[in-house]
Amino acid sequence: MSLAKQETEKTLDTVETNGELLATRKAHFLPTAAHYYQEPLHLVRAKGSFVYDEQGREFLDVIGGIVCISAGHNHPRIQQRMIEMITNDEIQHTTTLYLNRYATRLADKLTGEAPKSMDPKTAKVAFTNSGSEANELALLAARQATGETMVISLQHGYHGGTSGTLAHCGHHSWRFRAQPVSNAVAAIAPNCYRCPFKRDPGTCHLECAKHVEETIQTTTHGRIAAFLAEPVLGVGGFITPPEEYFHRVAEIIHRYGGKYISDEVQTGAGRCGQTFLATPSLGIDADIITMAKGFGNGAAIGATLMRADIAESMTGKMHFNTFAGDPFQAMQALTTMDIIEEEKLIENARVMGQALKDGLLELQKRHPLIGDVRGRGLLLGIELVKDRETKEYASAETAQLMELMKERGVLIGKGGLFGNVVRLAPALSINRDQAEQLLKALDESLSVLEKG
Ligand code: PMP
Repeated sequence: MSLAKQETEKTLDTVETNGELLATRKAHFLPTAAHYYQEPLHLVRAKGSFVYDEQGREFLDVIGGIVCISAGHNHPRIQQRMIEMITNDEIQHTTTLYLNRYATRLADKLTGEAPKSMDPKTAKVAFTNSGSEANELALLAARQATGETMVISLQHGYHGGTSGTLAHCGHHSWRFRAQPVSNAVAAIAPNCYRCPFKRDPGTCHLECAKHVEETIQTTTHGRIAAFLAEPVLGVGGFITPPEEYFHRVAEIIHRYGGKYISDEVQTGAGRCGQTFLATPSLGIDADIITMAKGFGNGAAIGATLMRADIAESMTGKMHFNTFAGDPFQAMQALTTMDIIEEEKLIENARVMGQALKDGLLELQKRHPLIGDVRGRGLLLGIELVKDRETKEYASAETAQLMELMKERGVLIGKGGLFGNVVRLAPALSINRDQAEQLLKALDESLSVLEKG
């Protein structure tokens, strides 16, 4: 029987084996759909910091479905609201053509988190379904407002999988031959562990920030539309630029007429442990901020925040996104924001982030594979190297570490151009016991790896 025929005979209650799921996936998913682990996991339930597979095995989730779980999986308050909305036959789809109290309140609350450079009282916001769309809109708005098209981004940066955002992707593995790349240029990434200028942090005079200006001077006509960068380069392997970098770069960008777009798709929603958005606490004079992922705690919602004058440059045009800000998604983001505030999850991200970082630095003393520990709050990266002198990328070891951690009931992520950076981004509600569980599993797994 053909796979297609079998599919039609299945109902939502049919329980396929993992082998069957993989076969159907292989038959019909695009070849671009990768999966973690040699034997991919089939996760079916989740609660708080934990996820469960089809056999009921429990895993501590330290990557949150790629940095999406902020308030914790299936938070009871969000669940309760969802149940109420469904039982009350609340409308699922409104678009912005009708009024919608959830999206309106969300706009009000989110703009309140904007940095001073954007004037929270007058800042504007549009909702999207994803981080890619949020960045597309940010690029559109910056180009409309400036009348310029050139956008500077960073090598190792990632901003989405749509054509426009891929033009600013700093990873060859994510870019396509087919993709139109226009009016996009990338500056060198501010990576202190592998400083491209061979300087030491503290005495480096921020050559990386100066390089942004040199990039403008040597690859543009001297005026630009925007600079697009993440406060911590997520897909790039949690590359964490020094704090002074952003302020310096924003000054340069504004001098050349551009708008600073801070891509907070990964760093937003309190993850960096300072403010709801990382941009204000890092002193980034941003004009536009984009977010998604943890904003909806797993629901498909993103946002593009911008200064009023930038939004006004779009007056007279239509810009429409069918599902954006629909009630169910907007409610989830709004309730997530409330939970983060009421449960003091930003403070927890700061405290637990520091505790985890300290624990990782302890592990670094004992495990030569750990080349670097970095990140902000609960966005933590561990760069694995074969040799601390040569800093040779330990890519295969990172993949093995993921398997060993899975055997110990802990799910971690990885990133970096060479796949040698462990990415940790647990729920913001992670507690000390769970942090201990993670550190213990890492300690054991690294020991196994190092024994060869
Ligand atoms: N920006 C950043 C910083 C991201 O990490 C991602 C996703 N990894 C995106 C944008 C794109 O978001 P989405 O996958 O929701 O389109």
